[in-house]
Amino acid sequence: MPDLGAIVHEIAAEMRNHPEKGTVADYIPALATVPADRFGIAVVMADGTCHMAGDAQEAFSIQSISKVFALTMALGAVGDALWQRVGREPSGSAFNSIVQLESEHGIPRNPFINAGAIVVSDILLGRYEPREAIGEMLRFVRALAGDDSIVVDEEVARGEQETGYRNMALANYMRAFGNIHHPVEKVLGLYFHQCALAMNCRQLAMAGRYLMARGRNPDTGRSVVSPQRARRINALMLTCGHYDGSGEFAFRTGLPGKSGVGGGILAIAPGVASIAVWSPGLNARGNSLAGTLALERLVQHTGWSVFEPG
Ligand code: GLU
Repeated sequence: MPDLGAIVHEIAAEMRNHPEKGTVADYIPALATVPADRFGIAVVMADGTCHMAGDAQEAFSIQSISKVFALTMALGAVGDALWQRVGREPSGSAFNSIVQLESEHGIPRNPFINAGAIVVSDILLGRYEPREAIGEMLRFVRALAGDDSIVVDEEVARGEQETGYRNMALANYMRAFGNIHHPVEKVLGLYFHQCALAMNCRQLAMAGRYLMARGRNPDTGRSVVSPQRARRINALMLTCGHYDGSGEFAFRTGLPGKSGVGGGILAIAPGVASIAVWSPGLNARGNSLAGTLALERLVQHTGWSVFEPG
């Protein structure tokens, strides 16, 4: 086994000095002001060992990575009936695209683009009151990470709310097709708050452990989802987790991963490790530039691609 401690430090050093930083998301002030030179990585192994480097303990906005946790909760609430309202195909379109909704009758392509995640929020509101739903999500993520200090960044949530015209359009458009069942403001209130979850790399890698461990939370030994569901969520992350950059991410890393515009990526090496990287500068497709490169390097060193024969 390679010396992972040394590898993550080497990767962090390389990323810190990387000449290209990408572009920090600037649609809300709370994200626009995050320094572009931040880089963090945390690797949590199946045996619980954690390797960290760089700014791995600095909290950032997890944004769309929350779509993985929301999907997991919604599948727990309604089971596979969820797939009658959300597809499982890569979109090939931007994260906030509306175009495919017309020809597909208000059914979003997958749960990891905005339209899909908004339907997932609507599904959760069939089970919880809005405030309760946010509380449940926070409880869920805290339990997965084994860390009660995780919070929602209210400033980010407010910014999302104030600028979320496109998400409002998506929700209203899907409502017109009958695929949103609750008042749009309530659905988006939940969606914006989940996007505003603030976590650091360590917490995020810890929270992703159930996807590495056949659906079990290693702390409690309890099942979060069945092994089959964990496999399926990983499959969706591999095929749809990076918007219209999903093919490129899979090509470069061979790992299921979910990105967010805050610059975070959660990646899973099934049976081996749960990995979180963070660097706020984004590439043209809205995915962390240095984060993707760091994961590519990690796989080059470790051979953790799911396509690497064991
Ligand atoms: N919160 C943002 C939105 O809904 C971005 C989510 C993301 O892609 O990370 O527009």
